Amino acid sequence: METILFLAFTEADGSLAKAALETLAAAKQLSASLPGSTLVAGLIGADVQPAANAIAACGATRILGVSGAEFSQSRYATDAAAAEAIAKSAAATIVLAPAGSRANRSLPGVAQRLGGRIDTHVTALAAADGKPAVTRWYYRQRMEGTLTRTARPWIALLESGCAPAYAGAAGIAPARSAALSATVEGVLVALPTIRTEVAGFRSPPADQQTIRPDAKLLFVAGAGWTKKQPDGQPHAAEAEQLILGFLHKTQASLGSTKSLVDLSGEGQDVLKFMTHLNQVGQTGATPRHPKGLATCCHGEEPHTVGWRFIGERRAINLNAACSWAQGKADVLYVADAFEVMRKVNALLG
Ligand SMILES: Cc1cc2nc3c(=O)[nH]c(=O)nc-3n(C[C@H](O)[C@H](O)[C@H](O)COP(=O)(O)OP(=O)(O)OC[C@H]3O[C@@H](n4cnc5c(N)ncnc54)[C@H](O)[C@@H]3O)c2cc1C
Repeated sequence: METILFLAFTEADGSLAKAALETLAAAKQLSASLPGSTLVAGLIGADVQPAANAIAACGATRILGVSGAEFSQSRYATDAAAAEAIAKSAAATIVLAPAGSRANRSLPGVAQRLGGRIDTHVTALAAADGKPAVTRWYYRQRMEGTLTRTARPWIALLESGCAPAYAGAAGIAPARSAALSATVEGVLVALPTIRTEVAGFRSPPADQQTIRPDAKLLFVAGAGWTKKQPDGQPHAAEAEQLILGFLHKTQASLGSTKSLVDLSGEGQDVLKFMTHLNQVGQTGATPRHPKGLATCCHGEEPHTVGWRFIGERRAINLNAACSWAQGKADVLYVADAFEVMRKVNALLG
């Protein structure tokens, strides 16, 4: 009989992020499909009570918590100690956590401490022949594999966007659900020596933050934006203005082809806000968004691999014979992206 532990780090306000609620929904479903299994929740953070209240009706038989100022910060020593203590207290055989930066960094070490195994970048959980199984992609998302393990405890880190988020117990209005008060069993942790303090965060200003994993639309820019246009001149400055204007108005997330980010890396006068973090494709990211719009983009990798998890795909290209845009886009607009985006931005107001 499996004991499935849903394990999550709470946000600064004590709530659970969307990715954590997605993992909870997946954990619930896995538990429901494994007869005799038990679902336990484990929460780590400065204050875990708000999160516990929000999931009070999720069906977990116990809600375990490690809380206190030391556990508010992302720090390997305290995160690993807390997760280890909760997993032991729950006698967990399966541990499911959202693949956020804290879990990605600390849980592989916890698997080692517990004598268990871990799989990262998991995209689906299911029961196969009465046994839990995980699905993940290999070789830069070109092959999908499903695997089971006999080793326990088995930790799996679920990628965001792969399951619907837990939305409260069926039949209970969200307002009432939020007002539920859950009993949290505090788990004692012997504090390790603390050598690391988080002094603060350095991040670009909000209007320069162009990677938005929760955006409805992924806007992919290709190197064509910086190439010579029909008047024989490149128009990088206007390209920058059109792209940033569109992102600002729509809050879309920005993806790039490898060619374009490589140009930026060489310090040429191109799209200054573009970095390698924006790159999609075989050697970049494979984000998940309901819709995608590729512009001035010809490459195979952004279209085949970078778009793998995009729901509805459209492309704008001057070249009607662009085989990747034709083959992988649901709709191909054969048009000048400068003209189209000028018009789109004007319509957006
Ligand atoms: C091992 C390996 C791994 C790779 N991994 C990746 C990866 O992860 N991601 C990735 O992106 N690439 C990757 N590449 C590179 C990839 O093969 C392509 O070279 C690259 O994606 C091409 O970039 P692009 O489409 O931006 O530019 P280009 O090929 O230069 O295409 C520019 C396009 O813009 C169009 N265009 C120009 N002006 C306009 C306009 N005004 N309006 C509309 N359209 C216009 C042109 O018609 C053209 O189709 C990899 C290559 C290798 C060998």
